[in-house]
Amino acid sequence: MRSALIVGAGIAGDTLAVLLGRAGWRVTVVEIAPRLRTGGQTVDLRGDSREVLDRLGLLDECLTRLVPQRGAAWIDETGRLMATMPVEAFDGQGYVSKEELLRTDLARVLHRAAAEHVTHWFGDTVDTLEPLPGGAVRATFRHHEPADYDLVVGADGTHSRVRSLTFGPEERYRRPLGFAHAWFTLTEQPGTPPLDGWFLICNRPGRLLVAARPGHPGRQEIGLSFPATELPSRRDPQARFALLEQVFAGAGWRTAEFLAAARTAEDFALDTYDQIVVEGGWHRGRTVLLGDSAWCASPLSGLGTALALQGAEALATAVLAGGPGALPDYERAMRPRVDAAQKLFPGRLAIYAPNTGLGIRAMTAAMRAVQTPPVSLLLNRLVATHGREPS
Ligand SMILES: Cc1cc2nc3c(=O)[nH]c(=O)nc-3n(C[C@H](O)[C@H](O)[C@H](O)COP(=O)(O)OP(=O)(O)OC[C@H]3O[C@@H](n4cnc5c(N)ncnc54)[C@H](O)[C@@H]3O)c2cc1C
Repeated sequence: MRSALIVGAGIAGDTLAVLLGRAGWRVTVVEIAPRLRTGGQTVDLRGDSREVLDRLGLLDECLTRLVPQRGAAWIDETGRLMATMPVEAFDGQGYVSKEELLRTDLARVLHRAAAEHVTHWFGDTVDTLEPLPGGAVRATFRHHEPADYDLVVGADGTHSRVRSLTFGPEERYRRPLGFAHAWFTLTEQPGTPPLDGWFLICNRPGRLLVAARPGHPGRQEIGLSFPATELPSRRDPQARFALLEQVFAGAGWRTAEFLAAARTAEDFALDTYDQIVVEGGWHRGRTVLLGDSAWCASPLSGLGTALALQGAEALATAVLAGGPGALPDYERAMRPRVDAAQKLFPGRLAIYAPNTGLGIRAMTAAMRAVQTPPVSLLLNRLVATHGREPS
């Protein structure tokens, strides 16, 4: 195998493009967005992501782009502080880390590295995928001529088109977690309350969560989470904004300001928290799924990017080694990690977004309590022994 079509220039797609491109493969990455998709919150460089980026030779560049953060702080609907967890908590192993960069910046670093070796087609996608005798796959596109590839990779996210074309409809693989999340960037105006480096979280009864965290200078990354399994169609943005406004009406703090900013944000996104479970293998012939399209563990796992980086490395390692067992080898390497990441620890949702005022007060009291010396020493020891639960 020497030629690949990668569908999706996200974290997984561009990481794989770097590795195959450097190995001399002829790689085309087709991305449906008109340009590299930016936006999203931060990526934690503790642990697995750091190791893969180091092996790619891109860690130093990522470390120059860290977001200055002081920690997480929980506030009530009036903005009054209820609990904080500074980045120094738990010897730097707490909820927010000193070593986080925006997903936007990670995507740019990977994209630049990939673009040295591969071709990107923006504003296009695959229309059909047809296995050919001999194993290659013929792809047709909306805006480019058909072409044949030794390998086709669906790195096109949770709502993967490659998966729909080759494996069947999304309903077969989607496991909704009953939550939805909107995220976008707010550009600060004169009078915008500063964050001073804090990731501010305001929980409200009914499992609502409103959050703002530091972004690039002069920008704040906003997140709004709420219970939902289905959302109005992407083709009806007004219905999506109207839903948010209805759900968050009267939620307090800066919510009204955020709802207004959502309507004009360039990178506004709204989606349900889902897991993707593809039983029976991530490949059909020489078409293979990678990243969220294969195994989305949901943002609640905190592991989406780490798995995308690891998965791209595992897939590249397997196909560069060659042989008919390459794609099963990739799956064997990744399945245990994916299965572990998809097991959200019990109570994860309840801690993230408690249902009642009492639950919110209990959660913030627990956030304070876990940082008092006897408990934090015990937790530090547990983390050292069993590893860290991702944020
Ligand atoms: C803009 C953006 C913001 C995000 N923000 C967060 C966040 O704040 N928190 C979080 O936990 N996770 C976030 N994610 C998801 C996170 O990036 C992934 O969970 C993780 O990095 C796995 O990456 P992936 O490459 O598999 O998928 P993604 O990063 O989702 O990348 C998939 C890529 O495929 C492209 N694509 C989709 N459909 C097609 C198609 N039909 N044809 C061609 N290309 C297609 C998409 O435009 C995207 O560029 C975000 C994803 C995106 C795209």
